[in-house]
Amino acid sequence: MSDKAIEGQPFVRFDKVQKSYDGEILVVKNLNLDIAAGEFLTMLGPSGSGKTTCLMMLAGFEPATHGEIFLGNEPINNVPPHKRGIGMVFQNYALFPHMTVAENLAFPLQVRGMNKAEQETKVKRALDMVELGVFGNRMPAQLSGGQQQRVAVARALVFDPELVLMDEPLGALDKQLREQMQYEIKHIHESLGVTVVYVTHDQSEALTMSDRIAVFNDGIIQQLSSPSDLYERPDNSFVAQFIGENNRLDGVVTDVKGKECSVKLDSGETVTASAINIEGKGKRTTLSLRPERIEINPTGKAKRSMITAKIEELIYLGDHIRTRMSAGGSSNFIVKFPNKSGHKLLEEGKTVQVGWLAEDCRALDPIL
Ligand code: ADP
Ligand code: MG
Repeated sequence: MSDKAIEGQPFVRFDKVQKSYDGEILVVKNLNLDIAAGEFLTMLGPSGSGKTTCLMMLAGFEPATHGEIFLGNEPINNVPPHKRGIGMVFQNYALFPHMTVAENLAFPLQVRGMNKAEQETKVKRALDMVELGVFGNRMPAQLSGGQQQRVAVARALVFDPELVLMDEPLGALDKQLREQMQYEIKHIHESLGVTVVYVTHDQSEALTMSDRIAVFNDGIIQQLSSPSDLYERPDNSFVAQFIGENNRLDGVVTDVKGKECSVKLDSGETVTASAINIEGKGKRTTLSLRPERIEINPTGKAKRSMITAKIEELIYLGDHIRTRMSAGGSSNFIVKFPNKSGHKLLEEGKTVQVGWLAEDCRALDPIL
């Protein structure tokens, strides 16, 4: 536990925070968010949803238009950035090109008035942490993109901040390197116990790295959950569509019984779903169904909703088979299943029954 963190209290708190750049449009609308000490929290959302603005307000580079931000219980709206003690990493890593790697790392320590001996110890430790121990004397231009980004991570951590902010830090790297760095950053977070607020528009990156994810759209947090809850229990249609692959079927609620509801699909078939975010009988809803929760020609006793589907495309992907079907009024109904025996009976053009359990089908707000 860090100096500023107080047991049982959030380490970072956004309290009714709003932001407008032009005095008219709110790009962050009434943000309430508590982040625990040691947590890895990711702000995930499409471009323009207000993620960077939130990070800039937390770092102190943009003032909040309304509301208060707290760090370790202290209001920080009037604390300048360099006094907040926050480490930062950005997409364009912005190392000083005329300084060696070691000098880059020593810089935040010099600014803080640390003596030479202590600087050297800390720089060495930070370089070892990102496995660049032998590169201290190189210039940034002599390193690959991935190595430069690791130096940027080391520089953000070298002065032992309690909080590190990262804004799309891996955006410039190719896929393989990006995935490797995701694990490296996650492991560094775990071993240091530092609090990380991470921004990305890449959902798989968010799912891989985070303790919790705040899904942003239009300056509003749509859902704040663990990765598995976001995928398995989306609260609304935006989250269902944004996280992972999703089948949507549209229809009208015809009956509500406890936690379940009946929905008449636009195709005319009636199915059962979990009533999650519906307005009631007679109102439109969009159902969310994950492709791996759907069974083709189901057998067994479990009570399933069933509809007729035509197989439009069968794609062999080695470990699993993916099919695109026409079903329930959708021509892009995706079903995925593991590559076990049985799939050889399926062919493009064939008609099958597809079924699901009500608990795996969520009735949400209608997508217009
Ligand atoms: P994200 O990081 O999620 O892509 P941003 O926080 O950068 O979103 O932007 C949110 C909104 O605020 C966008 O509409 C963007 O155009 C606007 N915006 C961001 N920075 C500025 C700025 N410095 N001045 C004016 N508008 C800005
Ligand atoms: Mg951004």
